[in-house]
Amino acid sequence: MKIEAVRTHLLDHALDTAFESASMRFTRRQHVLVEITCDDGTTGWGECLGPARPNAAVVAAYAERLIGRDPLETEILWQELYNLLRDQGQRGLAVTALSGIDVALWDIKGRHFGVPVSVLLGGRVRERVRAYATGSFRRDGVDRVSDNAAECAAHVAAGFHAVKIKIGFGVAADLAVIRAVREAIGPQARLMIDANHGYDVREAITLGRAAAELDIDWFEEPVLPEQLDAYRAVRAGQPIPVAGGETWHGRFGFREPLETRAIDIAQPDLCGTGGFTEMRRIADMAALHGVRLVPHVWGTGVQIAASLQFMAALLPDPPRRDPIAPILEFDRTPNPFRQAILKAPIEHDRGWVAIPDGPGLGIEIDRDALAEYAPRS
Ligand SMILES: [Mg+2]
Repeated sequence: MKIEAVRTHLLDHALDTAFESASMRFTRRQHVLVEITCDDGTTGWGECLGPARPNAAVVAAYAERLIGRDPLETEILWQELYNLLRDQGQRGLAVTALSGIDVALWDIKGRHFGVPVSVLLGGRVRERVRAYATGSFRRDGVDRVSDNAAECAAHVAAGFHAVKIKIGFGVAADLAVIRAVREAIGPQARLMIDANHGYDVREAITLGRAAAELDIDWFEEPVLPEQLDAYRAVRAGQPIPVAGGETWHGRFGFREPLETRAIDIAQPDLCGTGGFTEMRRIADMAALHGVRLVPHVWGTGVQIAASLQFMAALLPDPPRRDPIAPILEFDRTPNPFRQAILKAPIEHDRGWVAIPDGPGLGIEIDRDALAEYAPRS
């Protein structure tokens, strides 16, 4: 089996209502899929975290190295592509583009052997995972306090055991939102806060100390991801567990945060940090240091399926009766193509998501939907 073609598919949708995190404004939803086709007809799908067109350009730069190669040689190809851009790469788009390719290669490998990727990774520990609802961005034209409270109450009513909200817009305003959401979801539901690196250290410590009484499970990306000493200061200066890692790339990117305990919870993104090949190394490193792993997920059904395959095979740490189970980040923000590109959408049932058990990622792509959401220009 040889690789015959590498293509990217851009997906685009203009939002009716723009929304924003502390660091990014969304007026459109744009994602990019990677399709790798082999000479025997086998096709695999991947996805790259981050800006769609730049990722597609880097995938195209890697593509010529893949034509004619054996798609089963995932370790060899990963190292070769990483090394191709290493001197000017090491992180960012060089790794997010590689991630989409790696996920597609593992999809091919699973289809070739007729088993889910989770079986190739060593076996399925679980057949379903609990999901938490990600949303509560700041939307244009509405009162953020009442909007976030109503949204989170709806997620809990739909069966989600946990919700994550966006902060990082200012300590006082954020505390008002967190208080309103806690009141709206009641004392039992789990609540996480995500600053998208919108604070400096002093603000993050002030917010964390004040919000701790509201029973927060984690404080995500409190400060800039490059500032690991700032992460450590936030972790030492306030009581909420600190989470981060969606912008750290590969084992090299996770070494210092793990070795210096800059975080309590590591959040590598399978489609950003290096695909299955690198994600399993990062999971081993997190386990080595006793740091909990909760994958970051922000993409289409391809990324959700890939993350589910990985989570199916994630070993209990520590192994024990009634072990800690990983939870799936389940994006609830508007994105009409997120599930439309799958012939069988991956939805939740009262906050639980079944892990696909078909070969590869366990999904089939709806090509009509790819055409429907292709950019018009
Ligand atoms: Mg985040």
